[in-house]
Order: sequence, then structure tokens, then C-alpha cells
Amino acid sequence: EQVLPKPSRPRILTVANQKGGVGKTTTTVNLAAALARAGMRVLVIDLDPQGNASTALGVEHRADTPSVYDVLINEAPIDDVVQPSPESPNLLCVPATIHLAGAEIELVSLVAREQRLRGAIHDYFEEVDQPIDFVFIDCPPSLGLLTINAFVAAREVLIPIQCEYYALEGLSQLLDNIKLVGRHLNPELVVSTILLTMYDSRTNLANQVVEDVRTHFPEQVLDSLIPRSVRISEAPSYGQTVVGYDLNSAGSLSYREAAGEIALRGEPRRGDS
Ligand code: ADP
Ligand code: MG
Repeated sequence: EQVLPKPSRPRILTVANQKGGVGKTTTTVNLAAALARAGMRVLVIDLDPQGNASTALGVEHRADTPSVYDVLINEAPIDDVVQPSPESPNLLCVPATIHLAGAEIELVSLVAREQRLRGAIHDYFEEVDQPIDFVFIDCPPSLGLLTINAFVAAREVLIPIQCEYYALEGLSQLLDNIKLVGRHLNPELVVSTILLTMYDSRTNLANQVVEDVRTHFPEQVLDSLIPRSVRISEAPSYGQTVVGYDLNSAGSLSYREAAGEIALRGEPRRGDS
């Protein structure tokens, strides 16, 4: 088992891409599970009303479950809504419920509407007795106030890119939004990591996308590629990550490798990228 260095302060990564179905949630839960398995204490914040990350981590998220909605709208402390994943006591999740769908609108009229998640995370860091090493925020497929809260709360953005046609389409819009948030709300924010997902080596197209992304983002893209794998896609139906469901499958190994790279690279210093 690989021994990974713990970060000197918690790393906060937002997993974002305004396209749906590119592997945001899958990447969030599997990197989180892989790091937890390597001894890190990891918090996942489910910021998508679909609640897919909550499902994959096996945590309750019925309509009446205390959730990230209460954190954003009612200023509930994260400590009051967080649940450990059955997969590991080091893997924590702030679940999302169906109520979150309304939060995008409700946030508009609240004070400090862009900073609410950031405030809650920083309060939580001061309260916990076991320090958190990594926070992953799983974003919805849009660039609204929920995603902006994630960008303001994080210091790093992780963009999963699907190795398929149109993969790069919409990316400049995402990068422009990140720049805007960086300029006005969170000067610390950098795109630290790009992960290529759903890779199928048999198609020329996938190899072309890999080449293009590596050319455009040589610093950010991880060496590890996530293959297209049935094990990865079936794990959530068992309320598990692929790391918990089938530890030595190709999909699990690729996410464990990617997690290792992220931990070993460390947080980029500002100005590195
Ligand atoms: P997003 O959160 O960006 O909408 P998801 O992570 O939910 O995307 O992935 C979309 C769908 O693709 C899901 O059904 C998921 O199980 C599946 N999927 C994600 N990554 C892989 C992969 N590497 N191999 C096969 N299926 C995958
Ligand atoms: Mg998702």
C-alpha cells in the first residue's frame, strides 16, 4: 500500500464542469475513497440536487435528512449534517437532498450569497477534533450560485474531461468563469488538476482528445487516465465507490493512482499555473 504525504493544511478541491455526465461525481467519490483508504481524512460535499455523490458514498439523503441545503440556507454547522460513509470512518459526506434544487433561487436574496459554503467549511475546520486533509466539492452541471459557492470555498479546481468528441467544447466558458471568480471573489483559486475520464484506448478519437488536452494543459493534466469500466458504473447501485466495491479492478486502480498523484504533487503554489 502506497504511503501518501498528508497536506500541511486541508486542500479544498471543487470538481467542476458545466457539462453533465462527464464523470464529476464518479471522480469526486472515487478520489475521496482512495485518499481515505490511504489514511487521509476526507470530506465530500455533495452540491448537486441529484445527490449522486451521497448515493455512491452510501449516506442517507431522504428529503428530511439534514443536508447541505441547511448549511447554505439556514447556516447549520457542517458538523450537524455530516455523515460518515459506511465505506470508511475517514470518509465523511455532507449529503444533498431534493431541497437543494430550490437553493439556487433562495440564495439570490441572502447576504454573502457567494461565500456561504466557504464560511461553513472554515467554521468546521475550527471545530473538528480530527483535522481534515482533503475536501472535495461535487458540483451540479451548471454555472449558477451553487457552483460559484464551490469556487469561492475552494483553492483548487479539478476538471474531469471525458475522452469523447466535443470534450473541449464549453471548456473556455468554464475557464472564463473561474477567472471571473478569481478576480472578484477568490484570488486563491487555481485550476490545479485535469483528469481524463472514460478513456477507451481502442478508439482513435479518445487518443486524439488525450493528446489535445495534454498539449493545452501540460501542467494540470494527471498522467493517470481513468478507463471506461463497467465496474465503475455499477458501484453506485450498491451504494459504494469502485474502491470499496472492487478494490483491485482496473477502475479502482486508476482512481487510486490518480489520488496518489494528486497527493504527491501537493497543492500548487499560486503563480505555478
Ligand atoms: P457527472 O457527475 O459529471 O454528471 P457522473 O460521474 O455521474 O457524471 O458519470 C456519468 C455516468 O457515467 C454515470 O452513470 C457513471 O456511472 C458513468 N461513468 C462515469 N465514469 C465512468 C467510467 N470511467 N467508466 C464507465 N462509466 C462511467
Ligand atoms: Mg454528478
